[in-house]
Amino acid sequence: MAEVLVVVEASASAGVKKVTLEMLTFARTLGTPSAVVLGEAGDITAKLAEFGAEKIYVAAGEDIDGYLVSPKATVLAALVQQVQPAAVLLGSTQEGKEIAGRLAVKLDNGLLTDAVAIDADGTATQAIFAGSALVKSKVTRGLPIVTIRPNSTTPSPAPAAGTVEQLTVSVSDADKLTKVVERVAEKKGSRPELTEASIVVSGGRGVASADNFKLVEELADLLGGAVGASRAAVDSGFYPHQFQVGQTGKTVSPQLYLALGISGAIQHRAGMQTSKTIVAVNKDPEAPIFELADYGVVGDLFKVVPQAADEIRKR
Ligand code: FAD
Repeated sequence: MAEVLVVVEASASAGVKKVTLEMLTFARTLGTPSAVVLGEAGDITAKLAEFGAEKIYVAAGEDIDGYLVSPKATVLAALVQQVQPAAVLLGSTQEGKEIAGRLAVKLDNGLLTDAVAIDADGTATQAIFAGSALVKSKVTRGLPIVTIRPNSTTPSPAPAAGTVEQLTVSVSDADKLTKVVERVAEKKGSRPELTEASIVVSGGRGVASADNFKLVEELADLLGGAVGASRAAVDSGFYPHQFQVGQTGKTVSPQLYLALGISGAIQHRAGMQTSKTIVAVNKDPEAPIFELADYGVVGDLFKVVPQAADEIRKR
């Protein structure tokens, strides 16, 4: 079976991201998964092998880490030409999409983004119109280069050899036009990463102030969850943008999603509607979030949330 290249999303601090394991799971329906690590990512080879990577290509060094995505796309294009894979899968993340776009141009190839599933023949199911419709598409020029939306499937382990192969990095000056000047590590709290958390507690405009978000954080901490926010809450300065859930924010798919003071606009739903259980607290019984919620509390969040927190503390 032909190789399927999966471009690894990982960081030295957080290890392999869930989307990588999802891509390795999808890749098994297309051929034999090979992971491609572009940059320093710590000791992740065992995890990649556990989820089906027969081979693990590693391209590291200053020419990769010292610049933005251009060298990564160049190294990946050379690898594609060398191994002639059945497909290339990347995460539908900011970096994944940028590498995918550059790779498609370099190979004069078609590209599909935001896929939520992929069939054995490379047909991708894409979420469109903020996730309100699905469309099936196929690359008709070249091999399938497809970006996969995080939280599209449940990763399943399938132990494989995980043979590591170091790639020779050969990039030109044209790849070095944008240099990394400084890296500032995000302050890592004790909460789980938003897109990987099994419980997410999100606050919306109804939370009413940055200070009141302490209530959302407190409930998240009691449940061992991550904190999310609607765009209205982010735009109002209540919570930082990296925690925004939705079409222009992060996509989450936890076991439990709590929406506090969030109306349930389509753009918000796009980022959370595949959550397993959705609980909404909203004082407006007509709020659209109740159409989606498995459990709803019509009430003032400033009364409901402290009561819920007290109950959880007693258990
Ligand atoms: P509102 O719609 O104002 O709702 C606030 C809710 O809080 C109301 O239902 C109200 O009844 C309730 N409430 C108020 N006070 C209380 C209280 N004390 N107790 C209980 N309930 C209370 N939005 C996103 O979230 N994520 C995105 O990624 C995103 N991307 C977008 C992209 C585009 C191109 C566009 C056009 C919009 C996007 N939006 C996004 C914005 C989206 O359309 C909505 O405006 C936004 O989701 C509304 O946020 P909200 O529900 O917090 O606020």
